[in-house]
Amino acid sequence: MSKLHYCIDGTSVTDKVLRYQQTKENDDYVPIKLYYDNFRDWWYRKLQDYLDRETFDADYDFKLCKAVDTFDEDQARAVAEKYGLNFLGMFNRWFYRILSNWRSNAKSSAFRVKNRPPVQCPVCGRFVPRINDEHLSHYKTISDLPRFFVRDGMIYKTETSPSTFATVWGKYTRKKLQLMQRGDTKIYLDERKKIRWPFFQKDRSRGVVCPFTKKIVPAITNEYIRGLHKRHNRYAVPMRWSEFQEEHPVILIQSEIYSVDRADNRSDDAIMAKDYISKEYSTDEADHTNLDKFAKNCRFEHSFNMIDYYVEDELDRKILKLVAVGYTVEDIADSLEMEKKDVRLQIRDIRDSCIEMESRLLE
Ligand SMILES: [Zn+2]
Repeated sequence: MSKLHYCIDGTSVTDKVLRYQQTKENDDYVPIKLYYDNFRDWWYRKLQDYLDRETFDADYDFKLCKAVDTFDEDQARAVAEKYGLNFLGMFNRWFYRILSNWRSNAKSSAFRVKNRPPVQCPVCGRFVPRINDEHLSHYKTISDLPRFFVRDGMIYKTETSPSTFATVWGKYTRKKLQLMQRGDTKIYLDERKKIRWPFFQKDRSRGVVCPFTKKIVPAITNEYIRGLHKRHNRYAVPMRWSEFQEEHPVILIQSEIYSVDRADNRSDDAIMAKDYISKEYSTDEADHTNLDKFAKNCRFEHSFNMIDYYVEDELDRKILKLVAVGYTVEDIADSLEMEKKDVRLQIRDIRDSCIEMESRLLE
């Protein structure tokens, strides 16, 4: 091995790089490459968990090329002076930094691939890193607040703490509010106005309107939302951990860490709960008598919960669940021994009362 910081021909590596930047002659590049071939194995040992040797070698050559191209003499001289470093070693520092970045990128991307994918909660349908006690209480947070609310016939943007100005979006109509809550605000942009803060508490200090209770409160925080009546403060049925385990014994509460090559050699006993369930209860074998089985399928469970939560009538529930799993009016009429006409009417009724309920919830 040649002397530290010196190429085999006796020139310092840094000088050689500067020379090559001028000449672009292969003869000036080869000594640099030969010098750094000495460090190849050392770097490969650092990276061998993430790259195969061939990829590593190609990348290493490429990084060296890049480093030689981008080495900036003026900047290097300034840095050397500032920190009292030997200028001869400056290219080496530059290349070392590039290689170190490479190593940490390789490491973190490998970690990302192995990271746990989120799991879907069968009760609320949301994806979470892990289903735990905390999650199962299904409390709303300020991120669940409706974006707009209605007061005195006008639509306002929801704020969590008082400010100097409030944003008002013009006169309320049910349709307009529905579209806006869904994110279609563009068509109403002309009506948007900033106005002096209009909401005051009894003691004349500024407050915000709670979009759930319509009352004026000092501020809306996660704690405030938790303290509300359960009609307002949950987005799904709250559940105790013990109930959850009893009802969903096969649901994984946290996914396994799979490495990249895992898909090829999955063993049957380690299969994800979701796959297991859809294998057990495929759509074909279900009819209205075993709707309960559907409920164990993540995909339907969320809809079923919503239906049970909001719909009281037993027949309405049955019809809605069949609609949710993809039954046609004919199928439903057959399964429930009803007239097709009646099924249609019933569905229309349910839909109307849902729209009614939705707008009541949003107001
Ligand atoms: Zn949940």
